Order: sequence, then structure tokens, then C-alpha cells
Amino acid sequence: MADWKSKLTKPLSQQRSNSERKNDTVKKILVLEDETSIRSFVVINLNRAGYEVIEAGTGAEAFEQLRLHPDIKVAILDIMLPDTDGFEVCRKIRTADPHIGIVMLSARTQEMDKVTGLMTGADDYITKPFSPAELTARIDALFRRTGATGQADAGELVQGPFRLNTRNRTLEKEGFRIKLTQVEYSIMKMFMDNPGKALSREDILNTVWGRDYFGELKIADVNIRRLRIKIEDDPTNPVYITTVWGYGYKWGL
Ligand code: CA
Repeated sequence: MADWKSKLTKPLSQQRSNSERKNDTVKKILVLEDETSIRSFVVINLNRAGYEVIEAGTGAEAFEQLRLHPDIKVAILDIMLPDTDGFEVCRKIRTADPHIGIVMLSARTQEMDKVTGLMTGADDYITKPFSPAELTARIDALFRRTGATGQADAGELVQGPFRLNTRNRTLEKEGFRIKLTQVEYSIMKMFMDNPGKALSREDILNTVWGRDYFGELKIADVNIRRLRIKIEDDPTNPVYITTVWGYGYKWGL
């Protein structure tokens, strides 16, 4: 476990960008779940929805599969695992790859875990037990966002110290790159497209997660909290992303 990161971090991101250029149509998903009945349920339903699913039962297997399949675009991670926990796996995958979509699987009683998981870099979570329709809707929505990486969109948005490159989907603040997840990028883009305008949490959810999103409004708050940590000088006293009480958020300089 100790040395996987040194093997994984750089080669993974290099391999991934190469493979993405070669093939944008692969819909490959990693499912990390040690309970075989749940894993089979996920695999069968994602296969039915047209995905190629790579399976792992331990954290170590998951890292090995990511190394073997650099074109995996979404990872579904269970939290309770035999050799590690899903949050730790999430944190390590996210460190190696800012673009991969990550969904946590959590049990209903682990309410607090949701927030922890999203703060370690997950884009979404699905609460067990879940229906096939919910699973595929959430994965489809995440795939649409992560798949958007290759779309040509010329230009950049420059506001105050921020420069958002909409072609490379990157953000700089005062010339320094800020690493964003795909969801965080989409939220930034929405803010910078609407300077000074109060955006409701529903608007943000519809634009970033899609109208067919099954989850809760809270996910917008958690992602924005994480975004503030990355872009604000003082995240506890935000000046760029301000809260509009009882409504949503506003981007202003
Ligand atoms: Ca488990």
C-alpha cells in the first residue's frame, strides 16, 4: 500500500491524457465494492446502460485496475473496505487525477460520511440501497460532465485575479494554477458567466448536475465550500463567492 502512489501519480495522469486523445468514446467505469452481491448489481445495471465496468474488491485492486486502465473516466467507491476506506482511496485517486469522476457509495446511516467524502474530492454520492434507475441516472449525469473535457470551446474568461480557460477547462488565480475537479470547474464557469447575479441552489444544481439529478441540494453547498477553500484568500470570510441567505450564491469581485 505504501508505495503505490509513487508508481501511480505521474504515470497515471500522463497515460490518461494520452488515452483520452486517442479515444473519447470509451465509457469505462471502475466499481470498488467488496460486497459481491452489491457489486454484481452495479455491474449488471451499468453494463445494461452501455458501460464497460472494471471491478475491484479492495483498495489495492482498485489502484492496480486504474493503472491498467488509464481510460477509466468514473470511479464508484464503497466506503467500508477490507484493506482501507473509500475516502482514503478517493483522496489518492483525486491527487493523481483531477478530472476523473468519483461517486461514493454510502449506507443510509452514514450521513456525516457524505460531507467527508465530498471534501476529499468526490463529485457525488449514492446512498444504499439504490435503484437501477437512480444509479444509471447519476452515472450518466457524471459521465456527461467528465466527457465534456474534449469539447472545443474557444477562449477564456478573465475577471479580477481569475482566468478561466474554457478550452482546457483550467483556472488560474494571479497566474497560479488552481486544480479543480470537473464539478468545481462547471460551478466556476457558471459563476463567471453570471457575474453579480444571485444564483439559486436549484439553478446551480440544474446547470452543473443536470435536470435529471436525483440527489439533494446539499451537494451544491458542499462543492461550493470546497471551491471556496481553493479560490478564496480567506475561505471563512469569502469575498468572491458570497452566500445569498435562503437562496443560493453570488459571484462578485
Ligand atoms: Ca463494503
